[in-house]
Amino acid sequence: MVGGTYLMVELNFDRRRPERILDLTRVAELAGWDREGDELVIGAGVTHARLVTDMRGLAPGLAIAARTVGSPQIRNRGTIGGNIATSSPAGDALPPLVAAGARVEMASASGSRSVPMSEFCTGPKRNVMAPDELITAVRVPVAQGPQQFAKVGPRNAMVIAVCSLSVHLDAVEQTVRTAIGSAAPTIVRATEAEEFIQGVLEERGAWERPGPLPASAVARFGELVAAAARPIDDVRGSAGYRRHALAVLGLLVGSLPPVYASRSRRARGTEPCSSTASSSLAADTAARSSRRRCGARATTAR
Ligand SMILES: Cc1cc2nc3c(=O)[nH]c(=O)nc-3n(C[C@H](O)[C@H](O)[C@H](O)COP(=O)(O)OP(=O)(O)OC[C@H]3O[C@@H](n4cnc5c(N)ncnc54)[C@H](O)[C@@H]3O)c2cc1C
Repeated sequence: MVGGTYLMVELNFDRRRPERILDLTRVAELAGWDREGDELVIGAGVTHARLVTDMRGLAPGLAIAARTVGSPQIRNRGTIGGNIATSSPAGDALPPLVAAGARVEMASASGSRSVPMSEFCTGPKRNVMAPDELITAVRVPVAQGPQQFAKVGPRNAMVIAVCSLSVHLDAVEQTVRTAIGSAAPTIVRATEAEEFIQGVLEERGAWERPGPLPASAVARFGELVAAAARPIDDVRGSAGYRRHALAVLGLLVGSLPPVYASRSRRARGTEPCSSTASSSLAADTAARSSRRRCGARATTAR
């Protein structure tokens, strides 16, 4: 364990009784992050609180998601490695990592390996890690455009996502990537929605001349996001509610395009990406729409 914010709950409820616990808190190598070219190497022991402050300009989707995790106490202790290892479909770090095309690095006494985040989880709270493996780090490409994350839950903080969505725009590759949380056994991408909105952006020359997307295209994107989910009915929400909420969260994409303009500077990573502020606005808009349409609160970065 590192932060213990998940494991201690398991112990307290007597769901697990491990014979031994290995506390990695003081392994300094896991607790930092570095930039290697166009990639960020984030140690497994980096806390959500640190992701909020340090990743704002480099991986804004991840920073926004980290800001929605639990409470300040949980964010100060809980780590990205613990979130990935838990492999809950509701883990907030997972959608931005999948959307970014991140890779999880693991090590054991017999060697090390790396797998795409999209292939790491094999089911709810199941993953490809062997019993003797540890997550050492996660490699995340530096953002080349605006990124957004929002989750829907019954209140504005300390809430497990009923569903969540990450949308990443890459203004250099001119691609859109999505990842849906808490609406399938693992994190899923809405590839049809991605292809659809990429077509719209291309057709309108929007990568070069940023401008608002037509409301009908934004709504269609939301519908396709909802269609990509495989939600279940559970105590947190019905499958129908989750699909509806995802269609609302899909409206996020409509607020992202106006920040394309300074893409070359962001692509070189010489200055923080300005999308966090703009994206927070998008998240706020989605939150308001969601409250109106879903009768619940969308939890957004604040
Ligand atoms: C009140 C409360 C609110 C919460 N709210 C949220 C929320 O909003 N969103 C959210 O996503 N999560 C939430 N969580 C869950 C939890 O805080 C996060 O998943 C957190 O990121 C876990 O990190 P940790 O370091 O505390 O993990 P730990 O509890 O230390 O470990 C969790 C699991 O991962 C394994 N593990 C940890 N580190 C590694 C590693 N480096 N390599 C291999 N295995 C490892 C452990 O063996 C354990 O099985 C909440 C928890 C609580 C108690």
